[in-house]
Amino acid sequence: MQALVLDNTDGKTLASLKTLTTDDLPAGNVLVDVLWSGLNYKDALAITGKGKIIRNFPMVPGIDFSGTVHHSEDPRFHTGQQVILTGWGVGENHWGGLAQQARVNSEWLVPLPDGLDPRKAMIIGTAGFTAMLCVMALEDGGVTPQSGEVLVTGASGGVGSTAVALLKALGYRVVAVSGRESNEAYLKALGAERVLPRSEFSADARPLEKQVWAGAIDTVGDKVLAKVLAQMDYNSTVAACGLAGGYLLPTTVMPFILRNVRLQGVDSVMTPQTRRQEAWKRLAQLLPESFYHQAATEISLDKAAEVAAALLENKVTGRTLVKVR
Ligand code: NDP
Repeated sequence: MQALVLDNTDGKTLASLKTLTTDDLPAGNVLVDVLWSGLNYKDALAITGKGKIIRNFPMVPGIDFSGTVHHSEDPRFHTGQQVILTGWGVGENHWGGLAQQARVNSEWLVPLPDGLDPRKAMIIGTAGFTAMLCVMALEDGGVTPQSGEVLVTGASGGVGSTAVALLKALGYRVVAVSGRESNEAYLKALGAERVLPRSEFSADARPLEKQVWAGAIDTVGDKVLAKVLAQMDYNSTVAACGLAGGYLLPTTVMPFILRNVRLQGVDSVMTPQTRRQEAWKRLAQLLPESFYHQAATEISLDKAAEVAAALLENKVTGRTLVKVR
């Protein structure tokens, strides 16, 4: 079987396509024939070596995949069953989805819900799953379609674009923030009513600014998130899941103590199984057919390293789908 393998020589990460056997795979109680994987921001950091994602080499990257069960020692899964895997450190410290087979722990697998096929599941991928968790965080915070406009930052990215589509499907009025003017039509087609330039959110924020947003999903962090927080309505919620613009947060306590703003962190890696299954079920129900046509670029395994570099240069729009077999 073919696998993208990362090695480390003199502190440099080298990615190459190799032929492996099933015996090379790490321990686990389910062997999956991988059909589709995705290329996420974290994968791009791992593959290029630009982020300290991987500590033990050799490593097969790929933090998400879909496929069919080849063999299972857990009676809850049977041969031929379609499954999804995202998170749990797979592709970081356990060999991941950018290979034609993966051996994993059955506790990490989600049975493919009705309404999805393995390709659609990976168009959604970790990014879309995270977007759903962010929407659920806004719902938990009491944000409804009647509350007002909801902002999505880093909107052209995998998380942002799915968040726009999900919010639209739920009846929210969505405003997208993007650094790419050329993506305005794309974002409006996904469901954004308006698209604001990222430059409007890049300047230093005052502690409190005019109240504009009933909810926000932030994939960017740093000054952009600080600006968003300063503009939130009284009693609103921000779901923060990303750091595409940096990991700092130059803000003050003012939005929290004077406007009752709730900042909810979102992690998709260790999400408990029940919430995972609920999120996947809702994704299957909510995303319109058009989403699967608009938001994905398909590549083969041998192109993964090249596209990873382009992704870090912000030259990729939406999800990158890797056809593994
Ligand atoms: P993408 O690279 O697909 O998208 C990120 C988007 O952010 C870009 O498309 C761009 O959108 C915007 N952006 C890029 N660079 C900058 C910058 N320097 N300053 C401001 N905005 C920028 O990534 P994903 O959508 O897959 O992930 C988004 C973030 O969420 C990442 O930081 C990722 O690590 C994180 N993440 C977190 C997860 C979790 O479990 N918490 C799970 C998945 C992802 P535009 O051009 O429209 O501005």
